[in-house]
Amino acid sequence: MSEPAALDRDPALSARASTDALVERLGRLSAEAERAGLDAVLVGPGANLRYLVGHSVPSHERLTCLVIVPGASPRLLVPALERPGWDGVPTDALGVEAVTWLDGQDPHALLASLLPAAARVLGVDDDLPARHLLRVQAAVDGSRLRLAGPTISELRMRKSGDEVAALAAAGAAIDRVQARMGEWLWAGRTERDVAADIAAAIVQEGHATADFVIVGSGPSGASPHHEAGERTIREGDSVVVDIGGPTPAGYCSDCTRTYVVGAPVDRELETVHEVVRRAQQAGVAAARAGSSCDSVDAASRTVIEEAGYGEYFITRTGHGIGLEVHEEPYLVAGNERPLEPGMAFSVEPGIYLPGRFGVRIEDIVVVDDDGSPRRLNHFDTSLVRLAP
Ligand code: ZN
Ligand code: ZN
Repeated sequence: MSEPAALDRDPALSARASTDALVERLGRLSAEAERAGLDAVLVGPGANLRYLVGHSVPSHERLTCLVIVPGASPRLLVPALERPGWDGVPTDALGVEAVTWLDGQDPHALLASLLPAAARVLGVDDDLPARHLLRVQAAVDGSRLRLAGPTISELRMRKSGDEVAALAAAGAAIDRVQARMGEWLWAGRTERDVAADIAAAIVQEGHATADFVIVGSGPSGASPHHEAGERTIREGDSVVVDIGGPTPAGYCSDCTRTYVVGAPVDRELETVHEVVRRAQQAGVAAARAGSSCDSVDAASRTVIEEAGYGEYFITRTGHGIGLEVHEEPYLVAGNERPLEPGMAFSVEPGIYLPGRFGVRIEDIVVVDDDGSPRRLNHFDTSLVRLAP
């Protein structure tokens, strides 16, 4: 089916944030910045900029920067030659003043001139390149730099109803790809060939791009971030398939299933898969409002440890997801942050047996308004046996 058909089926795949939502985010960031003691927040191209103004254009070595000063109107500093790329952004309606600079001008000095004279503590986007960071630091007398990531994350990790709908649409789109796995995955094909077909289907089913396609067959599956190599899949192999990408609305999918091609050659596979499945269910069930991130990790980990495989669960249990595949909150030991309604994250325990195989099951889960966990992926979590 074509991409437009997939978009027709679910408007949330392509829905973008409304102007009202963006105005509210800008206002909340200004308030959060003030609370955090930041005199200004500087945001470069990337997910934070898309979150705040609905758009981002890469500007490479030239400086593009959203400048937020608590109590003042936000300013968007852009290279003059890239101003047309921002035409679709309703800057007036957002209350954002666009300020352009020409090649030959010093954009860092210009940025410094946009700040109040007393501004010293600057919150900088985690992804602002060092080439800009150090020049801004030099251009602002007495500047003290702080990471703005934690402040912006306070907004981004609590999803609105529209954002949850967009994540649910992304989840449904990647479920459709998992459901079609038998079309591509069989013995005699290389991981790389299977991955290429899956990548095409990810786009067909409604994503803007395929961000990652992990096809880990047999021993390759024991490396959690193995991508797809030249190994030829054999009858009896288990295969970890971890796939996802952003929809046109910008929200990401991320879903893992472990398949077996014909009858498993390794007799332990079914046992291990059942342990991971129970661990994943325990993690999802524990993901309630008020529970800490590390308690969700512990819920999954305990099941795997009690089954005797603790040393082979070598990752955290999950990560937040939204405009980026990996964002706050992280479900990891030591993260005592309590979950709240609107938080969305993966629950993806696994067991990785070196030289043999790996098993991972991953769903995206959101904490609903009533505090209970809701899966955004619905494809069967059992060990799906594909025809060899
Ligand atoms: Zn993940
Ligand atoms: Zn994944």
